[in-house]
Amino acid sequence: MGSVIEVQHLSKSFGNHEVLRDIDFSVNKGEVICIIGSSGSGKSTLLRCINLLEKPSGGQIIYRGENILDEKHDIHAYRKKLGMVFQQFNLFNNHNALNNCMVGQVKVLKRSKEDAEKIALKYLKVVGMDHYVNAKPKQLSGGQKQRVAIARALSMEPDVMLFDEPTSALDPEMVGEVLKVMKELASTGLTMLIVTHEMEFAKEVADRVVFMDKGVIAEEGPPEQIFNNPREERTKTFLKRTL
Ligand code: ADP
Ligand code: MG
Repeated sequence: MGSVIEVQHLSKSFGNHEVLRDIDFSVNKGEVICIIGSSGSGKSTLLRCINLLEKPSGGQIIYRGENILDEKHDIHAYRKKLGMVFQQFNLFNNHNALNNCMVGQVKVLKRSKEDAEKIALKYLKVVGMDHYVNAKPKQLSGGQKQRVAIARALSMEPDVMLFDEPTSALDPEMVGEVLKVMKELASTGLTMLIVTHEMEFAKEVADRVVFMDKGVIAEEGPPEQIFNNPREERTKTFLKRTL
């Protein structure tokens, strides 16, 4: 099981504010990693550095053996390999569900419209939204929008899927339908890196849990360790507050 992404000594500052410090961790093929931690601990910044929405201040990101922060590296080719799902969906509001899942395929991957449509339909079906191909985002509930956003990311057939609190903006009754889709995806062997506050989900689905505190990885391990037998005082304190 080789690592797909390896983050080494990653740091990120905004001005004098050091938000990530000496982050080391790797994502293995087929692995589901949940990142937990208090608000402001740097979880989103870590995901945003990994997909280069933010430029890291230091360290390395190795993707399939190559340092993608090396100037010579083709950043566009790398970014195509990552799918991202945001808290706020970020769908194109003027496009229907089907088009939302086609635009990137046609523009970025240069797929034909026919191929793109086939692939979009396949993934809309995976997330249970194939009956809503013509619906615009404003006609959909939050849970439905997030499922379309997941289908859109999957339609690019990425190597790794990144999720940043995909259920945090949802009404409580819609959280379950999105988590169910993510759980099904996890069981297919998709490589997933998920920032979440859903501790029960993390316990059940994660192969590994990473606990972040004030810009560092304070502890990481299998869910049994993190949730039942944490080694670090900081992890215990955080879990006491959340559970
Ligand atoms: P989390 O996702 O764990 O809540 P974030 O990664 O969003 O944490 O933020 C970590 C810290 O970085 C916070 O103190 C936040 O205010 C700061 N931060 C995040 N993005 C920016 C930015 N673009 N400019 C300045 N500070 C930022
Ligand atoms: Mg965040």
